[in-house]
Amino acid sequence: MYADYHMHTFFSFDGEASAEQSALSAMNKGLDEICFTDHLDFDLHPVVHLPDFSARAEEIRRLRALFPGLTIRLGAEVSLRDPLCAQQAREAMAGHEFDFIIGSVHTVDGISAWADAYYEGKSQQEAYQLYVETIWRALPTLPEMNVLGHFDFVAKYAPYPDRALRLSHAPEIFDLIFRQLAEEGKAMEINTASWQQDAPWGLDIFTRFRQLGGQFVTIGSDTHGYERVGARFQEALALAQAAGIPWLATFSGGNPIYHRI
Ligand SMILES: [Zn+2]
Ligand SMILES: [Zn+2]
Repeated sequence: MYADYHMHTFFSFDGEASAEQSALSAMNKGLDEICFTDHLDFDLHPVVHLPDFSARAEEIRRLRALFPGLTIRLGAEVSLRDPLCAQQAREAMAGHEFDFIIGSVHTVDGISAWADAYYEGKSQQEAYQLYVETIWRALPTLPEMNVLGHFDFVAKYAPYPDRALRLSHAPEIFDLIFRQLAEEGKAMEINTASWQQDAPWGLDIFTRFRQLGGQFVTIGSDTHGYERVGARFQEALALAQAAGIPWLATFSGGNPIYHRI
């Protein structure tokens, strides 16, 4: 199973490709399945990112007919912050069909976790630990989510020579997060965009997730254009395998379908 479960299109505020371009790219690369997870954000009030889910569903129906060899799923990446954000996202999703929901933390106390202002005045340890603590606080707000998106988002644009976010940055809090996810039948994604051009990281993280009951992962390129569709999937799969994770999941109507890793 070669499936990209984190993709943005022009339906996202920062998308750089059409859903058709991305689906075509997936076809050409031999992917079995893709899931469009456009941004749904209420965490930077008063700025709101709200895809036109009706227009997108219509477009996906067209693409399913156009690319019958490719399974195309409807997803969303919802920004986690507090119960109000989650409630606004819930209302925006109501009445629309979703196969898969990613819950992601993009902001810490109203500051983007990739902005210079976030890292200023903090050590790497402080910046990373605070991000993980923010995940833990926000996690209960969206029970609908299937996976936690990019646990290492804070590292993606970080200004450090060694950007990797490691278990040792917040071991107790990671344990709380992993236990909670496992208990609820949820998981974490392996987000191959966080690595940028670096070697993959996360073996310590996913090994611990497995030890605390984690059963599956999803793998996502987090592409915003069409070039990176399916990027570094094999490396992510190898990472999951090395961590002892038994299953790669895809989703239909919110329900996982398991594929042996
Ligand atoms: Zn994200
Ligand atoms: Zn994303």
